[in-house]
Amino acid sequence: MFNDEQLNRYSRQLMVNELDLDGQEALAAARVLIVGCGGLANPAALYLAGAGVGQLVLADDDRVELSNLHRQVAFRGDQVSQPKAEALRDQLQLLNADVDVRSAVARVDDAWLDDAVAEATLVLDCTDNFVTRQAINRACVAHAKPLVSGAAIRMDGQLAVFDLRAADSPCYACVYGDGTDGDLACSEAGILGPVVGVVGTLQALAAMRTLSGASVASVLHLFDGRTLGWRQVAIPRDPQCPVCAARQLPG
Ligand SMILES: [Zn+2]
Repeated sequence: MFNDEQLNRYSRQLMVNELDLDGQEALAAARVLIVGCGGLANPAALYLAGAGVGQLVLADDDRVELSNLHRQVAFRGDQVSQPKAEALRDQLQLLNADVDVRSAVARVDDAWLDDAVAEATLVLDCTDNFVTRQAINRACVAHAKPLVSGAAIRMDGQLAVFDLRAADSPCYACVYGDGTDGDLACSEAGILGPVVGVVGTLQALAAMRTLSGASVASVLHLFDGRTLGWRQVAIPRDPQCPVCAARQLPG
């Protein structure tokens, strides 16, 4: 399935038993939807493109700003004012032309997500607002797609995997409820680049693990940029969850 150049390109990760050739084939067959093209998505998408994920779909309606460049590490200074989804696509294609990268310069809504999530193998939530996070979660619950959720603000980061292919998986709303209040944008609160970078990087790793067949536990990972320490909190499924309590797996 892979030619000599591809085997060379991916050789160092093929040596890793936890991935190996089966995992590489699973990555090549996958279509990963990345919603939001900011500080989480930049490192996540670079690593997933570098690793040889077959298709990446990038969605964002923002444009690159000068104040993004300290953390949105895929962008270059001459891309300021370009749509983020297109600027990121262009950088990913330069990194690995084998990857089929699609970009949507769009504010995603329920209808858009319903189609895009249905076609995806796995979804990365790299957004910065609760309205979109809740909409992504609802679509992933409805279509039973694994969701890798990341968030970061100031010196703190969070990461969780919800493998909604499993009937007993919790969802994002089991942890956070289904509310949409409390947005705190980086433009108001501030963020250090490596803090959001470490979360985005681990979203890519969690995606690679999930796509290559590993079972990734439903745990909330909390990063403290002051101590460089991580804390893990178990996520139980909420039997009263407004989103997933009554769900039935499709098919
Ligand atoms: Zn739930």
